[in-house]
Amino acid sequence: MYKELISKQKIFFNLGKTLSYDTRIKYLKKLKEEIVNNEAEIEDALYKDLGKSSGESYMTEIGPVLKELNFQIKHLKKFMKPKKVGSPLALFPAKSYIYPEPLGTVLIISPWNYPFLLLLDPLIGAIAAGNTVIAKPSEFSTATTKITQKILQNVFEDEYVTVVEGEVYETTKLLEERFDYIFFTGSTNVGKIIMNAASKHLTPVTLELGGKSPAVIFNDADIKLAAKRIAFGKLINAGQTCIAPDYILIDKTKKEEFITYYKMYIEEFYTDTPLENDLYPKIISKKHFDRLISLYKDEDILFGGKYNDVKIEPTLLDIKDVNVKIMQEEIFGPILPILTFEKVNEVFEYLSKEEKPLAFYAFTRNKEIKKRILTTTSSGGLIFNDTLMHFANNNLPFGGVGYSGMGKYHGIDTFKTFSHYKAVVDRKTWLDINIRYQPITEKKKRI
Ligand code: NAD
Repeated sequence: MYKELISKQKIFFNLGKTLSYDTRIKYLKKLKEEIVNNEAEIEDALYKDLGKSSGESYMTEIGPVLKELNFQIKHLKKFMKPKKVGSPLALFPAKSYIYPEPLGTVLIISPWNYPFLLLLDPLIGAIAAGNTVIAKPSEFSTATTKITQKILQNVFEDEYVTVVEGEVYETTKLLEERFDYIFFTGSTNVGKIIMNAASKHLTPVTLELGGKSPAVIFNDADIKLAAKRIAFGKLINAGQTCIAPDYILIDKTKKEEFITYYKMYIEEFYTDTPLENDLYPKIISKKHFDRLISLYKDEDILFGGKYNDVKIEPTLLDIKDVNVKIMQEEIFGPILPILTFEKVNEVFEYLSKEEKPLAFYAFTRNKEIKKRILTTTSSGGLIFNDTLMHFANNNLPFGGVGYSGMGKYHGIDTFKTFSHYKAVVDRKTWLDINIRYQPITEKKKRI
């Protein structure tokens, strides 16, 4: 069903149409211009899909996309440049170098939670690296797909970049085809399906997945600031963020203080009637909404818990038993369970039994504890005394480990992801030393 489309892209690629620096830079600049011209429409679409305010849409989607575009445009020449390396004596005379080449036709599959950012962020790197792209956005963020598709159609020919819309059936069909790379952002369960399909053609993959990212608050932490930064990270996009702090593990003696400040910041950020606040986003769909309600309806609610037909209040839960459902799956909504510990060792014991998370947030100023976390735990990213902000630094690689994903991107890493680094040796012919040739006699063996 998608054979013709993919073969058109492959022909375009094989003709070398995506290869030159001039082409890549021209299209990246055109893409930037088109995004800037359509900013208002993108914001409207994000409001329709997720109830995101224009400020939040710019800060978390349009802004980072433009930042990534600027970064790739600025550094492209350097990224494309072959890197000279030394050659051993046995190769003399020769030049050795590493040549970055594009992979070919790549598939990008994206989720609904940051529908503009998570489709375009990898796409920018794929174009910078000289590939053609088939992009499959989520079926849940239809308004954003529409404007993104319009933008991409205005910039690229179909043979260069195409958006394919679809649900599970269409994606399954797409995955039957042979791509040169698959970049997937979504849930861990679907990640397994993607990797399985990719293995049929030995297609390499990046899997940007999810999981339960803990926020651990130790007794030396600045509790007020921790509450503020956790409220920021948990409530942006109403908790529908892959790196949102999923739950809190806090020193028992600090629990009440944390709750007081967390409530205070909810009101400061979203007033005491967040459901009526236009700056507070909604849940993407009825299906996702119902799942969230079922996750917390039987739990002990410390704060919030109310909902209307599209939004759920910022909610705090008191959790005594880690075997409850909300502690077994990624929450992906504005509900924050609080668990307590009495001894620091309990934290490490608990986390050692959990899957490696996409992000680990640790609130402490204690050097020993920091060192222990750094050296004995594993997570996609580790942030001391803040949440989310590592995503905003494109000098850092972004990605998961274990069940939270494989591969990394942002900045130079996106370019690397979509490139093959070819080892090249250019042997000269003006001299040929006989030593390495047969017959390989005893005399030659250690030379
Ligand atoms: P999802 O896995 O349900 O869907 C992601 C994409 O896969 C969509 O385009 C969807 O159409 C497609 N898909 C769904 N089921 C499929 C199937 N059976 N076969 C083939 N394709 C299928 O994820 P979602 O609900 O859109 O997004 C939420 C998840 O994504 C969360 O787990 C979140 O943590 C994760 N996420 C990760 C990152 C990251 O950067 N690591 C970023 C955002 C979201």
